[in-house]
Amino acid sequence: MKKKIISLALALSLAFSAVSCGKADKGGDDTVKIAYLPITHSLAVLEEAEELEKQSGLKVELVKYGSWSELLDALNSNRVDGASVLIELAMKSKQEGIGLKAVALGHRDGNVIIVSNDIESAADLKGKTFAIPHRQSSHNILLNDALGTAGLTIDDVTVTELAPTEMPSALASGQIDGYCVAEPFGAMGVSLGAGKVLFSSEELWKDSLCCGLVLTDKFIDERPDDAKNFVENYKKAGNELDKEKAKEVAKKYLSQTDEVLDISLQWISYNDLDITEETYAQLVEKVKDYGLSDAPPAYEDFVKNDF
Ligand code: ZN
Repeated sequence: MKKKIISLALALSLAFSAVSCGKADKGGDDTVKIAYLPITHSLAVLEEAEELEKQSGLKVELVKYGSWSELLDALNSNRVDGASVLIELAMKSKQEGIGLKAVALGHRDGNVIIVSNDIESAADLKGKTFAIPHRQSSHNILLNDALGTAGLTIDDVTVTELAPTEMPSALASGQIDGYCVAEPFGAMGVSLGAGKVLFSSEELWKDSLCCGLVLTDKFIDERPDDAKNFVENYKKAGNELDKEKAKEVAKKYLSQTDEVLDISLQWISYNDLDITEETYAQLVEKVKDYGLSDAPPAYEDFVKNDF
């Protein structure tokens, strides 16, 4: 009897997996799976997901992750078709032989250096502890840039990698003296009264790059028309994403207060999301100078603009 129950359960589970497999395969034809983290830096792709199906019939399935490493794992193993991701992480994957292309920026500007209230200048950061989300990030580059304004280098501070959500409270408790991370976690520190803005990204690095929209080579090669459609509509969504619309999308996906979003969205924009050769060259130089990588991918291998 027991054996019968087991085999019935097995048969049912096989039947179920056959159904779900069938569904997944069918869904794959008109769906593009995009990984994201719930940050303001991904709002362009979240906005596009809302619009694309209405306009073209192509569905965007958004897959939310809790950390860059989990997201990267999904992207690098083709479990998703693309992602809004820190561009330096994507560059590193490309360097390691993963098939992907950066097809647009995630956003423009939109980062700040947050410090505790007793720090008045970059020089005061000497000997202090500063948090970044990942060594491979524009936040690391911006920290290096900020220190450079006072003649300091990364060796003058203690750098710690922390999860973005932990940074505002770590600053409030004095565990760290400053941080730089994807938004809205900088705005959260300001809103809590834990710290203040020492620099905005554009003061340190004009036309800085941070997140990129990345697609896998598999998706681009197997579904070139969908890739083209997706990228064109993504850039259009970015151009249409003003502060008001951005706040609306952010409220839906990010579960943040109005105050935090109002502070954060002042710092960011989503128009003109092309990755130009000039801005990429600047990024490559910083990546090499600050020791993030000594062999970042060439523009023509990594960036795809010709859809
Ligand atoms: Zn970003």
